[in-house]
Amino acid sequence: MILDITSIIFKYFQCIWAYWWFFMDVFYTEDESRLISWLDENVKKFLQGKNIAIKLHMGERKNPHHLKPGFVDKIVATLKMQGFKPFLFDSPVIYKSDRNTEEGYLALAKEKGFGDRCPIVVSDESTPVKMKNMTYDVCKALSDADCILVLTHVKGHMCSGFGGAIKNLGMGALSKESKGKIHEGGEPEYKDGCTECNACEEICPTGNVRFEDSQPYFDKTWCCGCSLCVQACPTGAIAAKKEEFDTLLSEGAAAAASTFKKAFYINVLSEITESCDCMSDPGEIICEDAGFLASADPVAIDAASIDIVKKKAGKDVFKETNKKDPMLHVKRAEMYRMGSCDYVITS
Ligand code: SF4
Ligand code: SF4
Repeated sequence: MILDITSIIFKYFQCIWAYWWFFMDVFYTEDESRLISWLDENVKKFLQGKNIAIKLHMGERKNPHHLKPGFVDKIVATLKMQGFKPFLFDSPVIYKSDRNTEEGYLALAKEKGFGDRCPIVVSDESTPVKMKNMTYDVCKALSDADCILVLTHVKGHMCSGFGGAIKNLGMGALSKESKGKIHEGGEPEYKDGCTECNACEEICPTGNVRFEDSQPYFDKTWCCGCSLCVQACPTGAIAAKKEEFDTLLSEGAAAAASTFKKAFYINVLSEITESCDCMSDPGEIICEDAGFLASADPVAIDAASIDIVKKKAGKDVFKETNKKDPMLHVKRAEMYRMGSCDYVITS
């Protein structure tokens, strides 16, 4: 009898441990002021230190759908009240844009109204982190900070289906050179055995595939390295030059996260567009505004964001718009031990 009670108690604690280990908490609210008050009450449980980098995307010039400066100011004010010294951070991009240089991005961010309450840092300075497929240069301003708040506008993305916290790190926390290497690594190269089924041509978002002598050719100029053609090929006739885009993106995010002392994540489900904040025209809004999520787990927060948008829209709008399963890179980030796809919503 005593043994039975002991084993029941043991099982009980084992279940609680398993629950907390496998199911990560994701706070969810549709109310912005509730998010701010929750952050005020809870941020110190997750983040410690003084210098906090807020990693965010401050938007392309003609794109109005990125995070709003007024909302970011409220986050900054809350962190300051809790004794932090925040700064806004992003890295420059590889394509032709104001955001291609540190000076150009800084000027555009200020023009858009960011940085009224704290400094903005835009920098490509980085530290190499060696991973299985390649070495990723992680932005030094993030590695050097006492802690990071990864603040992400959720939207669709041509290469990853969906852009959330993992995308914010897997591209945004890396140097220009590493961003380029990820896109290049996902480009296709022909091996052998094409049956001319046309699946690669039909799925390519840039119309980049042409056929000559019964085999496909890919023009590097128009290829974004999304690996959709590779994933669609039924015979393995084409392969990614290095690895599929989704693998390199999540590996890059894992490289970045491995350098952080402490990190916390907020995803914003508003003005959810077809494509990313990097585009001058990110396309239509594909889902009504769906609220705010906060978590210490980047995989759980992205998985929860995808599920909430799917429920709100009544279908998988990310997959429908961009042809890519939005969970693909999230699951691969789980394989890199960035977090868990299993979560519980708290409010
Ligand atoms: S990687 Fe993407 S953009 Fe490039 S050829 Fe394949 S499907 Fe087209
Ligand atoms: S998907 Fe594969 S088999 Fe089909 S046409 Fe393209 S390369 Fe050939």
